[in-house]
Amino acid sequence: SSITDGIARTIEGAAASVSEALFEPVVRLGVTGLSRAGKTVFITGLVANLLDRGRMPQVQAQAAGRIEAVWLQPQPDLTLPRFDYEGHLAALTGDAPRWPESTRAVSELRLSFRVRPEGWLSGLTGPRVVHLDIVDYPGEWLLDLALLDKTYADWSEEVLSRLAKRPEGAAFLATARAEDGALPFVEGKAQALAALFTAYLGGARQAGWADCTPGRFLLPGDLAGSPALTFAPLPKPGDTPRGCLWREMERRFEGYKAQVVQPFFRAHFARIDRQVVLADVLGAIHRGPQALEDLRRVMADVLGAFRPGRNGWLTALLGGKRVERILFAATKADHLHHSQHGALTAIMEAMLREAKDRAEFAGALTGAMSLAGFRATVEETVTREGRVLDCVTGRLEDGRVVAMYPGRLPDDPARLLSPARQGAERWLEAEFGMMSFAPPLRMAVRPGEGPPHIRLDRAVEFLIGDRL
Ligand code: GDP
Repeated sequence: SSITDGIARTIEGAAASVSEALFEPVVRLGVTGLSRAGKTVFITGLVANLLDRGRMPQVQAQAAGRIEAVWLQPQPDLTLPRFDYEGHLAALTGDAPRWPESTRAVSELRLSFRVRPEGWLSGLTGPRVVHLDIVDYPGEWLLDLALLDKTYADWSEEVLSRLAKRPEGAAFLATARAEDGALPFVEGKAQALAALFTAYLGGARQAGWADCTPGRFLLPGDLAGSPALTFAPLPKPGDTPRGCLWREMERRFEGYKAQVVQPFFRAHFARIDRQVVLADVLGAIHRGPQALEDLRRVMADVLGAFRPGRNGWLTALLGGKRVERILFAATKADHLHHSQHGALTAIMEAMLREAKDRAEFAGALTGAMSLAGFRATVEETVTREGRVLDCVTGRLEDGRVVAMYPGRLPDDPARLLSPARQGAERWLEAEFGMMSFAPPLRMAVRPGEGPPHIRLDRAVEFLIGDRL
């Protein structure tokens, strides 16, 4: 009968999920970082190189010849967008190569490995399957965790004082200060304030400020235009009568916390086993001391989100589960000749140490690295005005092929990161210059060899090597 059929199917379904859990372990790898940190490029390079394992010598299971097969599979979460791996790879390696569309929301991709166990075990058991679920999400959304501890009044005060230090905030600040939150609520006014606030956030991001929360204002996903995103910080009026502007703003802020931020953490964050946090450290150095200082603060905030016990609500949700490994990686290392990669890694290590101190972090295994998800340059040593310079050569957007020497990173990261540097007049000896290269033309990707990268294999080994 249909009833017993249904029961049999349920039991079968349960058995299937039990057997998957027992015999086919799943590792959920979170990939995050602020906008333009390099998440999309990183995942695309990572997946392409894992599928074609020619360029992954530092993955131990690969070096030992234990990885028999790697393939893409339908992901388990049916309502999450799939990471558009094929589209992004085609953009990078097609006839008119270009950088792919950046991350705007959460997406997922499942990669499965068939691996032979190590040593004597391999004689006893056959190969096993391990699934790697890669979850890509904006770092901006992670920073929203800090909002959960704040009331609307606290948050408003904090944001308005931050705005006072950023020229991009002047227009919104003047409007917000002139607003009387005690007046009756009018939708048009809320929309105008939210639009002006969003415009400020956009300007702040353009200017390179790292903290541009609330995260959904710039990356709204499918929430654009909803009341949960139609609020803005306002000074608290002396009196807040029922139905006033300030109270409705407060209600929406609380709605954003409860209906946008919390569900994100519940659905995605709470299930992550391993995490990589990408940061455009070179870009921040290029923009100057303030941008670098801002990035350092954000790194501590990001790490703080992974600190066990930091937020009561999240702790209850996680129920003791924690992220086991966190890798902080400086991206776009192909802008530097390899003779400077050590210096970039040292800066990332120093920033991680500092972030751990600031966030009082302990618990997970952490690591720092510099890498490139997709190597767009080749190295070249040129002599300019009698000086021998270690350069990188690449193609600019306009088609010219140029050699770039970005300047020299200090060997001692303290030279960049010590408090004395902040506000210092001279920022490195020469202005640390940067060019944006386009992906190279006619890239010869041989079968069995993914596109060129820098240290993606080391990143894989750190993040999931123990599970392969
Ligand atoms: P997302 O916003 O974190 O997804 O950032 P993307 O992955 O889209 O990268 C943003 C931009 O940074 C790209 O469009 C490239 O211009 C640049 N970029 C990212 N990764 C690399 C890399 O490995 N090498 C180089 N040269 N540029 C990169």
